Amino acid sequence: RWADVPFNPPDSIFGLLEAFHKDPSPNKINLGIGAYRTDSSQPYVLPSVRKAEEKLRKKNLNKEYSFIAGSTEFCQLSFDFALGEDNVISKEGLNATVQTISGTGALSLMALFLKRFYPGEKTIYLPKHTWNNHITVFSFFNLPLDYYRYYDEPARKLDYQGLIEDLSNIPDASMVLFHPCAHNPTGMDPDQDQWVALSRLAKEKDLFVLFDMAYQGFATGDADVDAFAVRQFASEGVPFALSQSWSKNMGLYGERTGALTILGDSKDDVRRILSQLKGKIRAIYSNPPIHGARIVTEILTDPELKQQWLGEMKGMIDRMISVRKVLRESLLKYGSVHDWGHIVKQKGMFCFTGMDAKQVERMTREFKIYMGKDGRISIAGVTTKNVDYIARAMHEVTK
Ligand code: PMP
Repeated sequence: RWADVPFNPPDSIFGLLEAFHKDPSPNKINLGIGAYRTDSSQPYVLPSVRKAEEKLRKKNLNKEYSFIAGSTEFCQLSFDFALGEDNVISKEGLNATVQTISGTGALSLMALFLKRFYPGEKTIYLPKHTWNNHITVFSFFNLPLDYYRYYDEPARKLDYQGLIEDLSNIPDASMVLFHPCAHNPTGMDPDQDQWVALSRLAKEKDLFVLFDMAYQGFATGDADVDAFAVRQFASEGVPFALSQSWSKNMGLYGERTGALTILGDSKDDVRRILSQLKGKIRAIYSNPPIHGARIVTEILTDPELKQQWLGEMKGMIDRMISVRKVLRESLLKYGSVHDWGHIVKQKGMFCFTGMDAKQVERMTREFKIYMGKDGRISIAGVTTKNVDYIARAMHEVTK
């Protein structure tokens, strides 16, 4: 019966996790997966999240089903966290927002909706490079993909000229995906002036923008600053869809907590868009999990707890920024002839090291350091204890 089912190769990053667990070496280090670790290499449940859970426990809530679109309060809180309190879109009720199975679920639902309803050409323009799962998700829903230049590999910086040129040349009314902050995997974001120019170009060309905001707060440590791109495009009146994830900034990875927004031009648009999103959710998983959304709601509606959380988030970013510096210094200390300045310039959870496939292979085989084949390492996995070993390995394979 199943003889014709072909084998589906494992996901590169989650596949790496399996290989890591099977490796008996005591020195092994996992820099593949994008999950924050403390300086003792431990997963981190934020104390503000623990406090929110404590408050929830005292409320003795039931486990009834959520609405199909999830918690209405959570949806609005999430959207306002991105767009800013008192934003015009919320005031006018032009956001069709639903709770999703985290960022990935938001992107899948976005893809499903766009495949069915986006008028005209359905090609999605992605940055070259991008998060691998963008390709998996959008291809899964049979959306044609194309790429715009984003990263200047030899110079290890944003290819802003290429980016503008390519986006100027795509057909009007195309769909373009942006990482609004902490670009994965390159760690290179446009600066604010560049975002302003991009928003004007998008407006001029009537582009439809797909924002995948998985790291709000993780680029600079300030969630408002990190939302600059989204708010800028909103102020220019560029239409967009927005995927949000609470996995990283609140550390809710396994709770699968996120939101999808599609902007309408009128309240009636929003009513019809929502009805379609709900129809699809009902068919796929009926309604989302409740716990993560409750945690987010507790934190965002309690000013004191919210401040605590923002401080803890900043603490994660500060640790990553400082370990970037130490990693670079250690590489130079070992006498590396490379400059490695990009390690400290890049933002967010990842460092796009520039190591090639052969070097990565040696990192894993000789040093038991597991990392992306594209040379990406999760900075969140580097600590004051293992940074020296990692630097030595990087130096050895890049000599
Ligand atoms: N988008 C990007 C760019 C990501 O890096 C991630 C997480 N690695 C996600 C979306 C989604 O993550 P999650 O499904 O955990 O929210």
